[in-house]
Amino acid sequence: MTTNAELLARYRAVLPGFLNPLHSNPIAIDRGEGSYVFDLDGGRYLDWFGGVLTTMIGHNNPAVVAAVTEQASKVMHTSTLYLSEPMISLAEEIARLSGIADARVFFTTSGTEANETALMLATNHRGSNEILALRNSYHGRSFSTLAVTGNRHWAASSLSGLNVSFVQNGYRMRSPFGSELNDDDYTDACVADLSQVIDMTTTGRVAAMIAEPIQGVGGFVTPPDGFFGAMKKVLDNNDILFISDEVQTGWGRTGDHFWGYEAHGIVPDMITFAKGVGNGASLAGVVASAEIMDSMTATTFSTFGGNPMVTAAGLATVGEVVSKNLQGNAKAQGTRLRAALDAAGASTPWIAEVRGRGLMQAIEICHDNSLEADPAKTAAFLDACKDEGLLLGKGGIYGNVIRIAPMLNVTDAELDEGITAITRAIASL
Ligand code: PMP
Repeated sequence: MTTNAELLARYRAVLPGFLNPLHSNPIAIDRGEGSYVFDLDGGRYLDWFGGVLTTMIGHNNPAVVAAVTEQASKVMHTSTLYLSEPMISLAEEIARLSGIADARVFFTTSGTEANETALMLATNHRGSNEILALRNSYHGRSFSTLAVTGNRHWAASSLSGLNVSFVQNGYRMRSPFGSELNDDDYTDACVADLSQVIDMTTTGRVAAMIAEPIQGVGGFVTPPDGFFGAMKKVLDNNDILFISDEVQTGWGRTGDHFWGYEAHGIVPDMITFAKGVGNGASLAGVVASAEIMDSMTATTFSTFGGNPMVTAAGLATVGEVVSKNLQGNAKAQGTRLRAALDAAGASTPWIAEVRGRGLMQAIEICHDNSLEADPAKTAAFLDACKDEGLLLGKGGIYGNVIRIAPMLNVTDAELDEGITAITRAIASL
């Protein structure tokens, strides 16, 4: 029987060195069931990271497994050269949910490819290669999506056809404007920066701004409500499209809203989605109005995009989210989770900030009573949680943010179990 250690040796021998399994003793997840996963050495863990917010409604979710199994036994692949019922039905449902008028949906296989498409649409539609992005962002691993990623640790290349300017991102705790500004003054300062960036670093003919409503990889950085609404006024005055990267914030995870953009009183020109929508199937895409989508006249095509098997998974996942009001559960459980984290944060000198929304919560770990990042303690905390039977994620520009993202259908009992594990892990450090 293979063990975690044996599999780690084989992983290191054949996979690239830039891949880093989490934890000082990485685990091999052998199977999952609901909120739990099981490793090769007999370990059982409550999974509050879901393979980066991707297993969204539980491992082996019966509705998703049934949909994929049934579709696989009928036909696994056709491509967009043929009409496919699951693809069309899912596009109809996502168009309806998107909030975008006269919406069209193009499916891809990853968030990277979804953002790549949105950037291509924006630059075609506006006849400009100038783009605005937020500092501390992450949008993918291709040349164009790296160009709009504001995080040196992920910046594998500066090669790109885009001309990108970066604006302030809503990270008040580390803002050069000072962390003491109130919401309105802080937003005003960031909007003033946006205007200045447009006036002083672009030709004025900018195609789009791309933004994550809550920055995922960046450490669940959560700007004040209305932040992007205020920014969009400047964008509208300058004829600049707004692309909301909902890869982590979509499908009700933030509890208060179905999409992250809704906290800002706006409707974006485009939405990109990935991760949770397939509950593990490689399903992603972009939503835009027909006017924007159809402005691209060249043919483009993604062989696997909209594949019947993954869109069947997507239909089942979105069906569960909507019919079981999992956004409501994210709101209720997220409120309980946040209260527990706030209490822990208030009594722990190395927790510098608790932030996030709904079932997307983070704690930023610093040296005692300071803002000096402590990535070593962050790694130790992640391991301590694992020892308590809880899997969490990591992020942040300095690798010192713990990301907590339970399944949208997490139960009361599971929530209590996770909170107990976090409390015990904090005490152990
Ligand atoms: N956008 C955001 C906000 C993401 O978090 C990610 C993945 N971490 C991506 C895009 C890229 O998605 P993928 O890894 O599926 O290409």
